[in-house]
Amino acid sequence: MSRSDVPVFPSIFADVRIPFPRTEETLRCRTEPKLFALEGLAGQGARQHAIRKTRLMCAACPVVRSCLKWALANPELTVAGVWGGTTPAQRRVLRERLIDHMGPDWVGVVSEAERKRRDHTASPRHKPLTAPEPYLVQLERALSEQHPPTMQECNRMRLVAVLNIQ
Ligand code: SF4
Repeated sequence: MSRSDVPVFPSIFADVRIPFPRTEETLRCRTEPKLFALEGLAGQGARQHAIRKTRLMCAACPVVRSCLKWALANPELTVAGVWGGTTPAQRRVLRERLIDHMGPDWVGVVSEAERKRRDHTASPRHKPLTAPEPYLVQLERALSEQHPPTMQECNRMRLVAVLNIQ
């Protein structure tokens, strides 16, 4: 995969359990792919300079954390170059640490933890109000400003609200 092909969607070769982050932002590694790939850089000095420069660019990137996670989960696709602010050697060390902490299937462990977090966030407790609900709240407020509702009216409105959102 060439640097200019940084995936927006997971490709068939990538580990789909940790997808490459989606973003509308312009990624510096796409606009200056050669710099990030460290291709054709003559000499150690030029290489070190490019690494410093690209790492600063990555630090300012809105998807740096997810990019690094993706790069770590896809060693075959990120053999060379700077990804998520790391060099190939740094990624090798990070992968070893992940394996030490979570075992050889650390990608599975991380993706499962993320799935649980997503499920928790999407649970009814965190769900935004449904369409009829804000309308009914607004209506209830408007009515109560005109005259305070009786207990019977409150119960009726609550019942209507419950019936409408189920
Ligand atoms: S963190 Fe760096 S390599 Fe990753 S998408 Fe952003 S600019 Fe590209």
